Order: sequence, then structure tokens, then C-alpha cells
Amino acid sequence: MAVPKRKTSRSRTHSRRSANRKVETAARSVCPHCGVGKRPHIVCPHCGWYRDRQVLDVE
Ligand SMILES: [Zn+2]
Repeated sequence: MAVPKRKTSRSRTHSRRSANRKVETAARSVCPHCGVGKRPHIVCPHCGWYRDRQVLDVE
């Protein structure tokens, strides 16, 4: 059975893991109804509006 010849260094392990991690930039957009920052293509969590109408009841 194949066995690694050397211990994987901490630096190498971290480097590999960081390469596999997805780099995410936080997507931002501004709700046209209330002006709060929100993620695009989702209902505004602040006022419950999506595009030009209310789709959720937020108190
Ligand atoms: Zn809103």
C-alpha cells in the first residue's frame, strides 16, 4: 500500500485548504423601496419587497 514518505507540513496543509476554499465576495445591492443594503435576487429582509411589490409581511 502506498504510504506518504513525509509528514505533510502545516504550511502545505493550510495552503491546500485555502486553495479549495471558495472565495466569496459579499454580493451587495440596495433595496429600491427602503434603501437598505441587501443581497441581489432575494426578497428584501427589511421591508419584504421584491422588485416593485410587497411579497412578504414584515411587521
Ligand atoms: Zn427593502
